[in-house]
Amino acid sequence: MREPLLLTPGPLTTSLATKSAMLRDWGSWDSAFNELTAGICRDLLRIANAEASHVCVPLQGSGTFAVEAAVGTLVPRDGCLLVLVNGAYGRRMAQLTEVMGRAVQVLEFADDQPACPKALAAYLSVHPEVTHVGVIHCETSTGLLNPLQALAEVVAAEGRGLLVDSMSAFGALPVDARRLPFTALIASANKCLEGVPGMGFVLVERQALSAAQGNSHSLALDLYDQHAYMARTGQWRYTPPTHVLAALRSALDSYHAEGGQAARLARYRDNAEALLAGLRELGLETYLPPACQAPIIVTVHAPRLAGYGFGRLYQAARERGFILYPGKLTALETFRVGCIGAINRADIQQALAALGSALADMGWQAPKECAA
Ligand SMILES: *Cc1c(COP(=O)(O)O)cnc(C)c1O
Repeated sequence: MREPLLLTPGPLTTSLATKSAMLRDWGSWDSAFNELTAGICRDLLRIANAEASHVCVPLQGSGTFAVEAAVGTLVPRDGCLLVLVNGAYGRRMAQLTEVMGRAVQVLEFADDQPACPKALAAYLSVHPEVTHVGVIHCETSTGLLNPLQALAEVVAAEGRGLLVDSMSAFGALPVDARRLPFTALIASANKCLEGVPGMGFVLVERQALSAAQGNSHSLALDLYDQHAYMARTGQWRYTPPTHVLAALRSALDSYHAEGGQAARLARYRDNAEALLAGLRELGLETYLPPACQAPIIVTVHAPRLAGYGFGRLYQAARERGFILYPGKLTALETFRVGCIGAINRADIQQALAALGSALADMGWQAPKECAA
């Protein structure tokens, strides 16, 4: 039997080629390994058309480590970060800023409402103390797409810095640094780039990074030092995640072979379309209005079923070869299904069949008015 497919937003299903790329050990002093790192950084900048304006600083750890590093390095100790919050990742950015002792403010929107550029402009006009704004590109806790371009234009017009958590969007949703003004954009290897977990990276505006020496409260999470060391030696400061880089090299090769960002987005859109249609056919309701649903992950209302629990559904789907993801909304019982990873429409259709069979075993009958 094959391993179950992960319908999760990362770690996610990776290709055999990407998994196989990890079957080699690399010395961290080896010049071939330094070239591997440099090539990956070049590719990541190129995906955002940011080679002229930004540098890529890779960092060991999960995505949150890179978010924490970006805030700690780029927001000065007497600065103030305003976070636009409409889900758990926005709340996490605010929380990590508070924990590190930086001033933080929050502008909240409902979990099913995109952050509003007009509300941001109004807020900034009366809050001159805000030096930076934090935006979650795709709020993975629901799958909501925030209007990044419009928000970035407001931030730029107000002369503040912009930190974008594009963790679950980068590589699939377009980012063009030539028309999107941002100070830093944060993502990781194990989401839309379809690598394995273990490293994040931050695309940082060159001037902003040069001005950031000594800002960081942390030694290990200092992007200024990380970059300065790498620029000087070609090596990572502290042990690099060698196998993760090798896997990311392979994943980026596949990415380019597939046709880059446009092709990746088209496949994920196709997955999301098949998923949304199939869920409707099963009589399940999705959480977000279609206008702000990103083709990354879909939040589904739990079926109204006696004895329903996500644990039961998870187990039943897993036995059929698919890994679902729990919901992350506090007030509503939901579960999530990811559209990203090395999966296509046929996989989504098999997953829907498995979900239908699992639900039928639990006694679910699609409500008549919802059936297609
Ligand atoms: C995945 C993700 C992160 C990072 O989460 P980790 O578990 O630390 O990798 C941050 N922000 C968003 C929007 C994400 O989707």
